[in-house]
Amino acid sequence: MHQPGTVATFSDLRARSNLVQLPAMKILVTGGAGFIGANLVRTLVDQPDINDVVVIDDLSFGSRLNLDGLDVTFIEGSILDEDVLMTAMTGVSSVVHLAARSSVPRSIIYPMAAHTDNATGTALVLEAARAQGGVQVIVASSSSVYGANNTLPKHEGLATRPVSPYAASKLATESYTLAWGHSYDMPVLALRFFNVFGPLQPPLHTYAAVIPAFLSAAMQDQPLPVHGDGTQCRDFTYVDTVVAVIVDAIHRRVSHLEPLNLAFGKKITLLEVISELEVILDRNLAIEYQPLRMGDVARSQADSSTLRRLFPDVTPSNFVDGLRATADWFRLSRPWQNGHD
Ligand code: NAD
Repeated sequence: MHQPGTVATFSDLRARSNLVQLPAMKILVTGGAGFIGANLVRTLVDQPDINDVVVIDDLSFGSRLNLDGLDVTFIEGSILDEDVLMTAMTGVSSVVHLAARSSVPRSIIYPMAAHTDNATGTALVLEAARAQGGVQVIVASSSSVYGANNTLPKHEGLATRPVSPYAASKLATESYTLAWGHSYDMPVLALRFFNVFGPLQPPLHTYAAVIPAFLSAAMQDQPLPVHGDGTQCRDFTYVDTVVAVIVDAIHRRVSHLEPLNLAFGKKITLLEVISELEVILDRNLAIEYQPLRMGDVARSQADSSTLRRLFPDVTPSNFVDGLRATADWFRLSRPWQNGHD
């Protein structure tokens, strides 16, 4: 059995196998046409020991444009379709399961859709991986599982208190994954992402994450929408850092039978984000204060000690550098105009 915290490393295996060549890897990314998925796929295709990247995405939210020009096998289909999923899983050594209905406010309007895609969808991915055999399963959970538990920083041992259907469905995502790991001796990793931001994050729809919403407004000379007084804080994580952890986890085949925070312990308020943007864009930005949204948590900051222990070689990107790169992508791609939704 895999013990919590034990890590079987790819380099150990390589050393043990002496001069025997390990087989090249085939990786499946569910939701790979979405924001984090497409950033991950762009890195995976450049890894010398990965020879095949398969993406399954129903394009309900992601865009095929995000994968333009990349050498990937793209399957347009839903993880809820077991036949499609089994085909996608064939010969895979790791699956990174990112497909989900990924918005708190949307889940409050459509709770059953969040449940079906995020909870049932994860169970189906796990079953397909179990049927294939020997597949490492890495899934995206969320800091939203801490919900009404106000303790800071959030460490993985805290009680989870979801306050939205999305958060409950993400708790199901990680619980199923860890239960499959225990029950079937599968290598698993359930990563609690905090607020991830970066290029390719869509700004167009009503439920846009806060940084693309701010950038989109700023670049159209509109006031920045702030729900509440702007003092709520988040552990913003640049997408490259998330990608670096996942790629390292694949290479070293990291397995951990407890949920794992994927953020490095920053506590940044929305008002601080806006002042950094003022420096980056070199102008003052107007703010439009709006009512707090249901399901949003007030303060979020990760305890990153287990992450740092399991991934000692990953250094997080600097927040301001990430914000600058994101602003550059917005300037260049003008995603509020060209269908990046
Ligand atoms: P995203 O919405 O950009 O990507 C999700 C992708 O999944 C989309 O491309 C969508 O088309 C696809 N998808 C949805 N339902 C599907 C289905 N049934 N079958 C196949 N594809 C389907 O979201 P993201 O921001 O890239 O998030 C990726 C994952 O990380 C999600 O699981 C999300 O819940 C989790 N997460 C993200 C953040 C964040 O800050 N972005 C924070 C916490 C957790």
